[in-house]
Amino acid sequence: MYKKGRAWIELNMKNLAHNVEQLQLVLSDGCEIMPAIKANAYGHGAVLIGTTLQEMGIRDFCVATVNEAVELREAGIKGQILILGYTSPYQFEELHRYRLTQTIVDLDYAKMLNDCGYQINAHVGIDTGMHRLGINSEDMESILYVCRLSNIKITGVFSHLCVSDGSSEEDKEYTLKQVKKFNSVINNLHLSGIKEFKTHIQGSYGVLNYPELQFDYARIGIALYGVLSNSLDTIEAEASLKPVLSLKSRVECIKVLYEGDALGYGLSYTAHNEIKVAVVSIGYADGVPRELSGIGHVLLRGIKVPIIGRICMDQLFIDVTTVHDAKAGDEVVLIGKSGQLEIAASELADDSHTITNEILSRLGNRLERIEAN
Ligand SMILES: *Cc1c(COP(=O)(O)O)cnc(C)c1O
Repeated sequence: MYKKGRAWIELNMKNLAHNVEQLQLVLSDGCEIMPAIKANAYGHGAVLIGTTLQEMGIRDFCVATVNEAVELREAGIKGQILILGYTSPYQFEELHRYRLTQTIVDLDYAKMLNDCGYQINAHVGIDTGMHRLGINSEDMESILYVCRLSNIKITGVFSHLCVSDGSSEEDKEYTLKQVKKFNSVINNLHLSGIKEFKTHIQGSYGVLNYPELQFDYARIGIALYGVLSNSLDTIEAEASLKPVLSLKSRVECIKVLYEGDALGYGLSYTAHNEIKVAVVSIGYADGVPRELSGIGHVLLRGIKVPIIGRICMDQLFIDVTTVHDAKAGDEVVLIGKSGQLEIAASELADDSHTITNEILSRLGNRLERIEAN
């Protein structure tokens, strides 16, 4: 395979190590990072990121699906792999075969898992107010019932915060209420003689905004990759994070448009004078949002240039009139640095009205993923 061929992702593993270090400084003693490497490690490449983190001393991981977990196990991830979402009963056998840890989605799900004929490790999801997965924190009877099922080994109990990124008083109050409900479940389990389990409730923002919380794991995703979800977010913790991912492509060819010439699908762009256009070999199937048509920018030879016309599935157009020496084969930076300039993933997110998590996790599987040197 050609490295840095048509379009690719460069991963800066030094920055990944830096982020791990920074986040470990923020975490309370005894709290371990359980990296969220679902959705192909937020587009970065789950196997590359997972094995690199394992070499850095991280043991346990979480993902969203059983297939993601199996891929990591087969790639040599040895520690606990927690599946945060739904696994179909058809795949319960794989939970057993690959020593995976399943989230208990609700009481009925636990009963079904208990009846599958295998001994399965699980973490009980507790709903403390997000109303997504988990057993209601008030329903101790069901929680205790699940913990006592004979074919399920409960190795953890966890919840999820839904407004820990917010800085309003209401958000802070709600978050602390969620933590209180979670702690009350833990206390009740202890009082009932159930003590051998790990606890976790924080994601990235739970750690960055509530560093004082003390649980066994923190399920950190976006912060580990060195970016925040929104460009306007502020955080409480003193942590300097560095982006791990750059997204790059190549100029395929260069052409001249004369006044009145239009370009691309729908001929949505018309040149008002003579311009020089470069066709770049990356498109929306690679994860560049089509919404950036006529709005986004890229870097070429250290110069910021606009995306013009409609973004295609496999290509896009840029106006390179200001880049005198632009030529076919040139490297184009969509996320990352070129010369003195940098485009952050959050710029793409802002321009396409979403969060960096979505931009990164949708980066396509046609992209090569390689370590930057
Ligand atoms: C994705 C996910 C995380 C990680 O969230 P970040 O905000 O990216 O750190 C943590 N917990 C659960 C349940 C998740 O689904």
